[in-house]
Amino acid sequence: MHPASFGYEAPASLEEVFGLLRQHGEDAKLLAGGHSLLPAMKLRLTQPEVLIDLGRIPGLSGIRQDGDTLIIGALTTHTEVSASETVRNLLPGLADTASVIGDLQVRNRGTMGGSVAHADPGADLPVTLTALNASFMLTSAEGGRTVAADDFFVDFFTTALEPHEILTAIHIPLPAAPTRTSYAKLPHPASGYVVVSAAAALTLDGSGACTGARVVLGGVGGTPHRATGTETALNGQALTPEVIAAAAERAADGIDPHADSYADEEYKRHMAAVYARRAIEAAAARA
Ligand SMILES: Cc1cc2nc3c(=O)[nH]c(=O)nc-3n(C[C@H](O)[C@H](O)[C@H](O)COP(=O)(O)OP(=O)(O)OC[C@H]3O[C@@H](n4cnc5c(N)ncnc54)[C@H](O)[C@@H]3O)c2cc1C
Repeated sequence: MHPASFGYEAPASLEEVFGLLRQHGEDAKLLAGGHSLLPAMKLRLTQPEVLIDLGRIPGLSGIRQDGDTLIIGALTTHTEVSASETVRNLLPGLADTASVIGDLQVRNRGTMGGSVAHADPGADLPVTLTALNASFMLTSAEGGRTVAADDFFVDFFTTALEPHEILTAIHIPLPAAPTRTSYAKLPHPASGYVVVSAAAALTLDGSGACTGARVVLGGVGGTPHRATGTETALNGQALTPEVIAAAAERAADGIDPHADSYADEEYKRHMAAVYARRAIEAAAARA
């Protein structure tokens, strides 16, 4: 299918973007990698009158460490994240997540900012970024604000972003104590999107006991789901196979997964426990 006709703007600065957003209001859509927006336009699920291409604006992409924070620009591609030595060293679970998104073409064009702003319930990065306690920098003509991942994802395809705001960067805290991260995904065999996935970020003390756990599920609702029962069961414990297995069994506590044409609720609940266990095991095994 072809999209409905639309105008195209390629501003060179954020100020120009703000002016265009003021001019066109909700008739405009921001364009990053286009790998979610253009398919939706072709299906006529959305018909913006104007696309505002963020691709020529300097400073919106790149990966850098600033003290105890890893900062990733919104236009940084999935390939750049998965290939980054910095990300591989500091947060290998994030690099792993970016490396299993779609195919090479999708990873070469798709961006971190586009993925989280789109908030597809089958997307990978929102799950891991929630486990990593990331924050999102939202900028508008009026100034900026920071929204934590726990508050950013509101519902299916819905985030805390206002129509006049741009997501400019993602900030990920780097804890002082060693933190081990991982991501485990059951992909849909046709689309590659998440059926069920789990991300784990485990902080361990010198004795190997878990002093902080964030375990997050994908594919079980409209937004990433914190498996708080699992987190509680890990906290303060040495990560033995028995502790991990018992904690993972609690991953599905309180979830009411949405069924789809591929997986029913019971299957998703079962897979939530399986993939939570795999993610925790993989994180625990990381040096
Ligand atoms: C064949 C295929 C397979 C895929 N498989 C997967 C997969 O397995 N896992 C997965 O997670 N994803 C998958 N994707 C989606 C892919 O990761 C997209 O790249 C991503 O979801 C959107 O990023 P984008 O840069 O392409 O954003 P766009 O498509 O350009 O934009 C998406 C939405 O976000 C908004 N937006 C973009 N950037 C910003 C910003 N900086 N601030 C505010 N709003 C913004 C746009 O206005 C639009 O509404 C797949 C896509 C395709 C086409």
